[in-house]
Amino acid sequence: MEISSGNERQLPAAYVHVPFCRHRCGYCNFTLVSGRDDLIDQYLKAIELELATIGETVPISTLYIGGGTPTHLSGQQLQRLLSSIGRTFSLCNDLTTAPEFSVEANPADIDEEKINVLYDAGVNRISLGAQSFNAAKLKRLERDHTADIIRSAVSIARIRIKNVSLDLIFAAPEESVDDWKRDLEQAIAVDPNHISTYGLTIERGTTFWNRQLHNDLHPLDEETQRTMYELAVDKLTSAGFEHYEVSNFAKPNFRSAHNENYWLGGEYYAVGPGAARYLNRERSMNHQSTTTYIKGVLAGQSPIVDREKLSDEDIARERLVFGLRRIEGIDVAGFHRETGFTIDELAQPALGDFIAADLLRYQNDRLTLTREGLIVSDSIWPRFLVP
Ligand code: SF4
Repeated sequence: MEISSGNERQLPAAYVHVPFCRHRCGYCNFTLVSGRDDLIDQYLKAIELELATIGETVPISTLYIGGGTPTHLSGQQLQRLLSSIGRTFSLCNDLTTAPEFSVEANPADIDEEKINVLYDAGVNRISLGAQSFNAAKLKRLERDHTADIIRSAVSIARIRIKNVSLDLIFAAPEESVDDWKRDLEQAIAVDPNHISTYGLTIERGTTFWNRQLHNDLHPLDEETQRTMYELAVDKLTSAGFEHYEVSNFAKPNFRSAHNENYWLGGEYYAVGPGAARYLNRERSMNHQSTTTYIKGVLAGQSPIVDREKLSDEDIARERLVFGLRRIEGIDVAGFHRETGFTIDELAQPALGDFIAADLLRYQNDRLTLTREGLIVSDSIWPRFLVP
């Protein structure tokens, strides 16, 4: 994909969802199918049709192909997907963002052929679903790779694509704080440019959820989860990573530009089953079932099943919540200028409660999470999203 330059406005991002995996991991509730590779060719046709409705050479600032597992596609199928994406979207320099083209990958899928296909299409960032370097933990998470496969995937990717991010999970069943410490050390030793780390949540509808109901799997207690999160913050920042969002850490100049666009309230296109977009003050979402999505799009129907037009106040509330996820928080005066609302008029009395509880603080004309606020941030957002 060619990268143009010279645009002087903030451009939207774009997301393409690839809903295929070899196997559904026990904790995963994403939009995907496993064991249905027979659907891939029809999916690729449906994506081409959906992309064609967006247009040709539409300028965007960042592009992200996620899943599922995009690299579950064969080299040839990936090439077909990337060519149709390249006809619709054109990555451009813009005022705030360097062009970034990321693809999520399973370490077990990485080989030179696929990396060459990605590189030739302009991909400049790989996000590897490493999750852990611990054999027993990987097995409990039902992952199909080993620590050696992760290391080899990083080396192969870096022959062509230098910017590599690792996803890591903590608080897996039976994991100890020492296990997590070793995971962090091994991740740091691989020298990634970026790390995203999430505490395992056991979601309704997953096999982990059922196992928990039958007392066959036990989530870690809150105190241990908290210790693990704080350990990640301390070890990664000591290793030279900037903690720039609740769950994200980057070496200097390697923040995820695509995710920064979400947190700053930017617009984004989205294509594929279950994909959610935000354009022209409207959020909309495609059908989550892969088979229904394919059938509908191939029959000439719109894949969109849900639309919501946002009011000025909705937009301001979302800006508040997404903006506070960033460690640098929100510029109080800038927020008022851009949304037309003061933080106080939107967020009191909850804001006062959170400040009194030392979860949020005003500092240097910005509103930010405190360290304690970082740990319990998910309990803060619901009170800001409704009047
Ligand atoms: S590889 Fe990722 S997307 Fe696929 S099932 Fe496992 S966790 Fe879900």
